[in-house]
Amino acid sequence: SLAFEDVSHRFGSTEILSGISLAAKPGEILCLLGPSGSGKTTMLRIAAGIERQMAGRLLLNGREIAGPNVFVTPEKRGVGLMFQDFALFPHMNILDNVRFGLNALSVTAAKREAMAALERVGLDHAARNYPHMLSGGEQQRVALARALSPRPSVLLMDEPFSGLDSRLKDVVRTDTLQILRESRATAIIVTHDAEEAMRLGDRIALIKDGRLVQIGTAAELYGRPASLFAAGFFSELN
Ligand code: ATP
Repeated sequence: SLAFEDVSHRFGSTEILSGISLAAKPGEILCLLGPSGSGKTTMLRIAAGIERQMAGRLLLNGREIAGPNVFVTPEKRGVGLMFQDFALFPHMNILDNVRFGLNALSVTAAKREAMAALERVGLDHAARNYPHMLSGGEQQRVALARALSPRPSVLLMDEPFSGLDSRLKDVVRTDTLQILRESRATAIIVTHDAEEAMRLGDRIALIKDGRLVQIGTAAELYGRPASLFAAGFFSELN
């Protein structure tokens, strides 16, 4: 599990996150949903250790990874990151792209793990191909294999589907969900799309102006919105 405990952050004099407390449970897919600028990406950056929060603590499986007196560096956290442009290296084949995240292992072990990860996303047959030879959806699956291959405790995904055209988006979302389930991954997915959050999230955390407005299942948020803001966010779905 990954827990934020009373996490606050500011850039200059602007408060970006204000006392956020929430936790992704083991094996859960938690969506962070909120409008642009609400602080969702900053939460992921803090969880990954790219940014250090100014107050509060982060716990990974009960162990403090960031707090006033503790800071575990990104590479030691066991937290995976996947950004929206899923940037594969064009000059490396698929296998090497996945292997890149496994440089702590021996060459043989890294190759084996990378192939296993490609099998999990159904692309082992394309291991020697280069990214430009794959469709957008397949590239997304390679990026997912790369993010999952070091077997992170938690996978952080920032708007993972926003770069895909709408026809492809549906298929890739379904594939991604299935792969996450099969890997029993704990994932935090950032999105500004309420429909996407309802489709993917076991629970949804609604974020506004750096504050947690409400957290719960789609049914809870849709059926019992805790505020006008929450109601408005879901009303457009009817
Ligand atoms: P989006 O979906 O647009 O990425 P978001 O909810 O992910 O939005 P953040 O990217 O976390 O929001 O940004 C929250 C606020 O913090 C924004 O107003 C942004 O301009 C500001 N911000 C982010 N990074 C920095 C930075 N390094 N320096 C100053 N301000 C920043």
